[in-house]
Amino acid sequence: MGLALFLNLMIVLPCLGVNIREKDIRVVNHPAHSRITLEFSEQVDIRVVDGMDARDPFFFVDVYGALADFDERVLRPRGNSLKAIQIQNFAGGKVLRLVFFSHRKTVFRVFDERSKSVYPISVLQEKAFVPSARKTDFLVIEVGATEATVLPALLSRKRRVILDPGHGGTDPGAVSRPGAKPQLEEKNLNLEIAKRVQSILGENPNIEVLLTRYKDTNVSLKRRLDFAEEIGSERDLFVAIHVNAAKYHTRNSDARGVEFYYLSRTSNPDTRGIAEAENREDETKMDPRLSRQWDLIMKQLIQEFLEEFQALGIQACEGFDRAFKKDAYYGKYNRGIKSAAFRVLMNRVMPAVLIEVGFIDHPVESRFLANNEFQDRLAQLIASGVLEYFSQQDSISP
Ligand SMILES: [Zn+2]
Repeated sequence: MGLALFLNLMIVLPCLGVNIREKDIRVVNHPAHSRITLEFSEQVDIRVVDGMDARDPFFFVDVYGALADFDERVLRPRGNSLKAIQIQNFAGGKVLRLVFFSHRKTVFRVFDERSKSVYPISVLQEKAFVPSARKTDFLVIEVGATEATVLPALLSRKRRVILDPGHGGTDPGAVSRPGAKPQLEEKNLNLEIAKRVQSILGENPNIEVLLTRYKDTNVSLKRRLDFAEEIGSERDLFVAIHVNAAKYHTRNSDARGVEFYYLSRTSNPDTRGIAEAENREDETKMDPRLSRQWDLIMKQLIQEFLEEFQALGIQACEGFDRAFKKDAYYGKYNRGIKSAAFRVLMNRVMPAVLIEVGFIDHPVESRFLANNEFQDRLAQLIASGVLEYFSQQDSISP
């Protein structure tokens, strides 16, 4: 494959007239591609200028006749290709300038989507770029590192699975009904199952498994997310493990079985109860101001990253669903794939799912969940689901 694979990041700047509004700027991240799109209601002249500097490579694109409704903004996309994109009104508001600062020597190309004509491609490490001006109303700029520099590192790394046993420490999660025997706490079951999944998947030479907690300790939702963002990538998978309770669900006193969740922006009436229960943490220790601030940040981020990883989250749920359907017990008690606004799934770098493995307050199922052999079997199913997902990804990626 001779094509350069680009680090992936999408920036779409739809535009009414020749004005660019701040709220039209959207940044979506992939580790393997960068794409910036500007659509104008009428034709504008653009000029691409290579301003490479050995220590701080950059280039810029000038759009003549376009004006932003702000003077200057700096976007700092995550990912490997770009340090920052600076967007500013230039030359007294006659030119909109987009400056791209890259981390390393970078390939970029600029093309006209409608006419499919490609502007000259610049390889910054090799030759100077001859500026060109052209008319267009639909401009696409792709930015990324070269195949040679980035892909081997990306592809040779083992796929990572982050297992996130829910709750812990002073937060027990869901608990057994009063008087029920045995008295169970969700936090312990989650950890027990996660450790068993780790020991099964750990045997696989292509997979690396990490847990967000290895002990009965408090770990905030934010720390779980930070952990995902530090070590995860698009090729990896975050799996939160939880145990359900019937009280989280309306009109369902006798509920049992497994549920697979991917992230959605809002929870619907059916899943609101469980999202609220799982999003609650030991807030006595959390500064309420900090908590509100974090909520706001997350709301913003989820707009940008949700679509990117939602599709992968759904595919992962389908992998788990297929694996669980083969089991004699879970084949019968499978409550299916659902979506909800779980905070712990709102990371910006990797697909994430949450599994509710069963009901702690169901008289029969709770006894199963506490059983050693059943836990092994459950761990095996979760591990199979992870492998189902990865093998599907491998067959569709180039
Ligand atoms: Zn839980």
